[in-house]
Amino acid sequence: APQNYDVVVVGSGGAGLAAAIQASDAGAHVVIIEKMPTIGGNTIKASVGMNAAETRFQKMKGIEDSKELFYDETLKGGKFKNNPELLREFVELAPDAIEWLDGNGIALNDITITGGMSIDRTHRPADRSAVGGFLISGLVKNINKRNIEVLLETSVAEILFEDGVVTGVKVVDEYNDSRILNAKSVIVSTGGFSANRELVVKYRPELDGFVTTNHKGATGSGIAMLQKIGADTVDMGEIQIHPTVEQTTSYLISESIRGGGAILVSQAGKRFYNEMETRDKVSAEIIALPEKSAWVIFDEQVRLNNKAADEYLAKGFVVSAPTVEELAVKLNMDQNSLAATLERYNQFVEKQDDEDFGRKTALRHPLNQAPFYGILIAPGVHHTMGGVTINIDTAVLDSQKQPIRGAWAAGEVVGGIHGANRIGGNAVADIIIFGILAGRNAAEYALAN
Ligand code: ADP
Repeated sequence: APQNYDVVVVGSGGAGLAAAIQASDAGAHVVIIEKMPTIGGNTIKASVGMNAAETRFQKMKGIEDSKELFYDETLKGGKFKNNPELLREFVELAPDAIEWLDGNGIALNDITITGGMSIDRTHRPADRSAVGGFLISGLVKNINKRNIEVLLETSVAEILFEDGVVTGVKVVDEYNDSRILNAKSVIVSTGGFSANRELVVKYRPELDGFVTTNHKGATGSGIAMLQKIGADTVDMGEIQIHPTVEQTTSYLISESIRGGGAILVSQAGKRFYNEMETRDKVSAEIIALPEKSAWVIFDEQVRLNNKAADEYLAKGFVVSAPTVEELAVKLNMDQNSLAATLERYNQFVEKQDDEDFGRKTALRHPLNQAPFYGILIAPGVHHTMGGVTINIDTAVLDSQKQPIRGAWAAGEVVGGIHGANRIGGNAVADIIIFGILAGRNAAEYALAN
């Protein structure tokens, strides 16, 4: 016999978990369906943090920021392709989402910066560790506390739709048995499609052969399921490559390393661009180098400010040396060039003026504390900005821009918020902000109908 719920949440990344928690708090009977054997989706790999402007934590640190500036910088970073209504909602609700997390025992109260932003507004855990693991473990505690049911190794194969209204989902479990779950609301939070090479290459043939930073569940199945019930899509060809990906492991080297003061150096031992520019631009500059790769170079002080750096050291792909010259030898780089590059950069830090590339942010401190470190990186497929269309209530829209009754979507499966280029720290903000909203609205609709 079919089981009955108010709200079915498809996918257990940050968007799905936030939605489920909020829907449960709104009084709905909720189930989370996850096709992988573990909870957390691609969110668990999120590195740098969550952007928000005008937060309590910024005020506590004396950081002056404005929602207006956050809006403008995100729009500029997205090449003015962002959906203005969704972006406005995103910026408005961001501080509330930071408080919602804090109220649920998930404090993101240390603050750093990412490329394309002019102010420290990327909220991360107090111990400066990567945000993904911290966020997912905090959300899972909240799921458990509320006894929300989670079905792992179970895929949603189809969204059921009758007379223009969503009625539930068909799921397939690990034994290939299928069954029906009835629900008035289905929240699709299935993430992006960076790990679906065929789909990526369909939209962007030049990305054939690029590694991806994403987990293998990032196939875009939610987009296809929603299209089947009439959903429209937007910006499907806007696919982000992240500039700093370790190629042997596909491990993302967090933007927080550059945000903490690291630089990028070519095989010739020279800086070649403003490291704090947006991801699209930094990636393009790396691809334009003859070797199509570059080194992230940093010192001990940068390492001490980033827990992620220790993770990279443990992985074994960080080259380290007691002097800059010895590091250059190990990197097969001209010793004099690398030493001269660091010396010149350090002068720019002293003056707070990057005469060569106009880097304006994260000129944190001179890179002069041994040991010195280098990580070889090149761009990798990281985020799909496109996806299904929603309105500001997270209702999925059809091609006439009309809500599909009972269908909700949040997170990377949605298109439009980030335009043509997503700013670092805006994905976590997106999934939490719109996850909460989807949970609230889906519950309210299900309980009223
Ligand atoms: P977001 O960041 O938007 O929350 P994530 O990538 O973190 O997205 O999480 C999406 C989750 O959805 C992943 O764990 C993925 O395995 C899961 N998922 C994708 N498609 C399906 C499906 N058809 N059925 C169940 N789970 C799915």
